[in-house]
Amino acid sequence: MNQVPTTKLNNGTLMPQLGYGVWQVPDDEAEQAVATALEAGYRSVDTAAVYGNEAGTGRAVAGSGVPRGELFVTTKLWNGPSQAWGRDEVLRAFDDSLGKLGLDHVDLYLIHWPRPMREDFLAIWKTFEELAESGRAKAVGVSNFRPADLDRLAAESPLVPAVNQIELHPLFPQTELRALHAERGIVTEAWSPLGQGKELLALPEVAAIAARHERSAAQVVLRWHLQHGNVVIPKSVTPARIRENLDVFGFELDAADVAALDALGAGAAGRRIGPDPSVFDV
Ligand code: NAD
Repeated sequence: MNQVPTTKLNNGTLMPQLGYGVWQVPDDEAEQAVATALEAGYRSVDTAAVYGNEAGTGRAVAGSGVPRGELFVTTKLWNGPSQAWGRDEVLRAFDDSLGKLGLDHVDLYLIHWPRPMREDFLAIWKTFEELAESGRAKAVGVSNFRPADLDRLAAESPLVPAVNQIELHPLFPQTELRALHAERGIVTEAWSPLGQGKELLALPEVAAIAARHERSAAQVVLRWHLQHGNVVIPKSVTPARIRENLDVFGFELDAADVAALDALGAGAAGRRIGPDPSVFDV
């Protein structure tokens, strides 16, 4: 039974609050990894053109026997610096992703990075409006957008992104951006929700909470996200961990646990693991 709650996006679409992320999974391993996740009960998968594993992801989806209507597939436009991103280039990239996935629509299509120095995300968003209109992307959104980038979109387009997928975990809690999303009806989706399994999962504060609940550090961190209303897409290629990361609906953190985890991010400037969207271009 699939017990993952859904979050309603601003176009009425339902998105599972927990999904499976496949960054850094090579294409020839993605089919097995995604198949394991779908078998465990995940119904949402997060890939991207630049991950190079849309084909493996698509094979797993096709072979899973899960009806398409029960699945939520996200991919992202790699709006890299290799070319200008006019309407034709965006549509071609979208078609290429659909072709590799073997699907006739995706549930969510994201602009992968704002790359503000290129000043082209508004033009890209115009084509995203068209994709949303056509139904080939059930919902469209952005990733790594800063408040200023969201303001620019809002000034130029009536279409509010359904989702902003951002680096977010207790060591980089993005409190202001989350509040802005809530104000504007944008769902916050956390990438690297486990802090990439590094320092965060080894912190004594996290271990203490985990011991009290007889759960793992990863499960405690995922609960922190869920109880804050974030969508999460943890990644693992280890079957036991894939299942463990989904098994987070049978316990709850209390207010003191949440406060202790919130406190980890206080003064968190510089605790990013990934690139800073203000300067990231390649
Ligand atoms: P993550 O926080 O999900 O951490 C994954 C790592 O944590 C694993 O490789 C493993 O080492 C460890 N781990 C996983 N489960 C564990 C468990 N139960 N116990 C102990 N360790 C465990 O990091 P991520 O892969 O960077 O992020 C998740 C997903 O977010 C990606 O796969 C991708 O889909 C997405 N993402 C998006 C962007 C973006 O720019 N939009 C950037 C990075 C990641």
